[in-house]
Amino acid sequence: MFKEKEISTWILNPKIKSTVYYPDNFLTIKELNNNLKNFLAIGKLRSYSDSIYSTVIKTTKYNYILDYNKEEGYIECTSGITLKEIIDFVIKDNYFLLITPGTKYITLGGAISNDVHGKNHHIHGSFNESIINLQVLLPNNEIVTINDKNNEIYRAIVGGIGLIGIILKSKIKLLKIPSPFILQRNTKTHTFYQLIDNIYKYNNCTYSVVWLDLFNFNGNKLNAILQTGEFINQNYTNINHILKRINKKITIPHFLRIENLIVKIFNYFYYLFTFEEKIVDFNTFFYPLDFIYNWNTLYKPTGFLQYQLIVNSEEALEKIIYTIYKSNIKPYLSILKLHKEGNNNFLSFPIKGFSLALDFKLQAGLYDLLDKLDNIVIKNNGRIYLAKDNRMDKDKFEKMYSKVNEFKKIRKELGANKKYISLQSIRLSL
Ligand SMILES: Cc1cc2nc3c(=O)[nH]c(=O)nc-3n(C[C@H](O)[C@H](O)[C@H](O)COP(=O)(O)OP(=O)(O)OC[C@H]3O[C@@H](n4cnc5c(N)ncnc54)[C@H](O)[C@@H]3O)c2cc1C
Repeated sequence: MFKEKEISTWILNPKIKSTVYYPDNFLTIKELNNNLKNFLAIGKLRSYSDSIYSTVIKTTKYNYILDYNKEEGYIECTSGITLKEIIDFVIKDNYFLLITPGTKYITLGGAISNDVHGKNHHIHGSFNESIINLQVLLPNNEIVTINDKNNEIYRAIVGGIGLIGIILKSKIKLLKIPSPFILQRNTKTHTFYQLIDNIYKYNNCTYSVVWLDLFNFNGNKLNAILQTGEFINQNYTNINHILKRINKKITIPHFLRIENLIVKIFNYFYYLFTFEEKIVDFNTFFYPLDFIYNWNTLYKPTGFLQYQLIVNSEEALEKIIYTIYKSNIKPYLSILKLHKEGNNNFLSFPIKGFSLALDFKLQAGLYDLLDKLDNIVIKNNGRIYLAKDNRMDKDKFEKMYSKVNEFKKIRKELGANKKYISLQSIRLSL
C-alpha cells in the first residue's frame, strides 16, 4: 500500500525521499487523511515546482469514470484520472476537454489544484471554467460538494496547490467538436511589434499560442510563429487507430543532451520549415512534447527549470524580452500566450495580459536574471505561476498574489495548515 522512494516533480529537482501511498478507493483515502498529519496529495508530478513532501498520497490509482452524459456533455471522474484517460474515453463521441494544458499526462486533481490553462485562455479561461462541481475531503474528514464558484473553500481549492483538502472527484463540462482534427495556421513575424499586432489581429481564434525564438534574438530581429487553430469537420475512418498511433511515445537515449548549438540550429530550421497551414490531429496540436517520454532528462547534468510569468501589458513584455537579451542567458524554449482577465480564486495564476513560459538550463547567473525579471513582473502587476516555481521567496510571492491572506485565513480555519504541507508551502510561508 505504500513505498519508500525518491520523488521529484518534472524538473527532477529537488529530489526527496518520500513515503508514497497509492490508495485506489475512497475509504483508504479517508483513512489516510484521518491518520496522517503532515502530507500532500499528488498526481502525476508534472509540475515544475517543489510541490512535494516526505509523505504523499499519490492518487493515480484512484482513476474512475463515475458518470458520463453525452446529451448534456459532461463527465464526472475521481481525481486521479488523467486527462489522457478522459480524452481516450470521450473522443469517440466527438467530445474533448474544454481546457487542456500542454500535456495530457496530468491528473484531474492536478489540473484543478493549479487551475491550469491552455491555448484558449483568451477565449475560454482556465480549468476553473470547466468545473461544474467538485467534491473535497477536508482536514477533519468532512466531505463537501461544491458547485458555487463564490464559495470560499472553492476559491481556495481551485489553484490551491494541494493545501486545502484532498479533491476526491469533479464533474466537468466537455467541449463538443466536429472531429478530432484541427486546422492549424502559422503566421511568421520578424519583430516584436509585428508579433503583437498579429496576436491582436487573430485574437478571435479559439486557440492561439506563440513560439518565440529568444535563443537567436539579436536585439532587433525576433523570429516568432503565431500558431492558431480551430477544430474542423474532417473525415476519418477509425478513432482507435488514431489513438493507437498518437499514444505512442519515443524514449530519448540517456547519453543524449541538449546543447546550445543544437538549439540554435533546431530553432533556425523549425522557423524555416513551418508552413502556413496544415490539418493535424488534436495530439499533435495540443501535446507535441508528449511524444517524447523523457524529454526532461535532456538537460543533464545541470538540470533545468521553467519560469512562467504573466504581465499586464506589451510594454512590460518587451522589457522582459530585452532584459533576457542583455543578460546573455538564453531560454531554450519560449512560449507566449494571450490571456483574458482572471477569476476569483485566491491563488489562480492568469490575469489579463501576456504570459511567457521560458525553459532555462540551470547555469551561473540564471537566478540573478530571474530576480530582475521578478521585479519587472511585480512592477507590472504580474505574477509567476506557482505550478512552475521552486525559487521565489515569500515577500515576492505576497506582492504578486494579493489574495494570499484570504487563502491563509481559510487554510487556518479549516485546520489545513496543520495537515497539508509541501516544500513549496514551507518556502512561501503558507
Ligand atoms: C510538458 C508540460 C506542459 C505543460 N503545459 C502546461 C500548460 O500549458 N498550462 C498549464 O497551466 N500547466 C502546464 N503544465 C503544468 C501542469 O499542467 C500542472 O503542473 C499540473 O498541475 C500537473 O498535474 P499533476 O497531475 O502532474 O499534479 P502534480 O504535479 O502531482 O501536483 C500538482 C498540484 O496539485 C496538487 N494535487 C494533485 N492531486 C490533488 C488532489 N487529488 N487533491 C488536492 N490536491 C492535489 C498537488 O498537491 C500539487 O500542488 C505543463 C507541464 C508539463 C510537464
